[in-house]
Amino acid sequence: MSNTTFDEIGRALRGHQRFAILGHVRPDGDALGSQLALALSLQQLGKDVRVWNEDGMLEKYSFLPRAELLTKPPSAAEDVDVAIALDTAIQNRLGNTLAAVRSAKIWINIDHHRSNPCYGDLVIVDSTAPATGEIIFNLIKSQGLPLDHDIAENLYAAISTDTGSFQYPKTSARTFDTAAELVRVGSLDVGQISQQLYENYPRRRLELLRELLRTTRFDFGERTASFSLTLKTAANLHVLPEDNEGLIDHLRAIRGVIVAVFFEELADGKVRVSMRSKDEAVDVCAICQKFGGGGHTLAAGARVRGSLADVEKKVLEQIREALKHRS
Ligand code: AMP
Ligand code: MN
Ligand code: MN
Repeated sequence: MSNTTFDEIGRALRGHQRFAILGHVRPDGDALGSQLALALSLQQLGKDVRVWNEDGMLEKYSFLPRAELLTKPPSAAEDVDVAIALDTAIQNRLGNTLAAVRSAKIWINIDHHRSNPCYGDLVIVDSTAPATGEIIFNLIKSQGLPLDHDIAENLYAAISTDTGSFQYPKTSARTFDTAAELVRVGSLDVGQISQQLYENYPRRRLELLRELLRTTRFDFGERTASFSLTLKTAANLHVLPEDNEGLIDHLRAIRGVIVAVFFEELADGKVRVSMRSKDEAVDVCAICQKFGGGGHTLAAGARVRGSLADVEKKVLEQIREALKHRS
């Protein structure tokens, strides 16, 4: 699975000067927090670090310490020695940041998605880690890299968001140990960080939820729940793409529901499919891989060409098959 040691990565980090730290499109707290944390640690070593994401920093994560470091990539490529992809299951999910780092001599790929094909020269893919932030913490600790309040808060946010506030099954004793150490080292105010992460949504997000709930359907003996968002509804409500992060959890939280799906119509003729499972025997990563996507066993996604109705039909058919094999 992973084929590089932390020592090899540590040597590459210390042995080069110019870095670009990249994350996946439609970034989440894990991608953004991990990117900022590693960037800040490298900056303290005196390195020259760019931190790029196709979408730049999102409004909802702009409270993260030193959030201003994270920008959209420049249109012209810049000279960097090392490109580091974090939390990014396949290279094309780096979006338009890829073109900006063409000169990179070394690619480092650090991720926790099971479907990661291990692209790059130095690779750590640990699918037992609940968040890329936990891997970055282990890298920082093992290599004696700088770790201060700002780095700790970014890593805490990464781990808190990707574990669903320390609830999802990959949350382990190691995860709590990591969180405890981050709180201690950074003197973190957990209540305040959690409020920023989970109690600071714009009103339009609730209005979006109301519209999504109107479209909710149950299939296969109520073992599957799904809802969908059209471009028209998104425009009417003035919602941003980031507003829907986490809304799928309302479907997963229903008793008896095993698979939750969110279908989102995109402007490029594709539908973004977001999927969650509550049962390891129903592998949503495998389902999403059939549509060119990927992710984790219990949380995965894909972008599928077609109309909302067509994609819903095709995806639900695959879920029906997966449920059949379970029982
Ligand atoms: P989401 O439903 O967007 O929150 O994504 C669930 C998980 O699947 C995340 O860990 C994503 O990084 C991953 N994922 C989502 N879409 C894709 C895709 N098109 N290809 C590979 N992995 C994806
Ligand atoms: Mn992510
Ligand atoms: Mn992640």
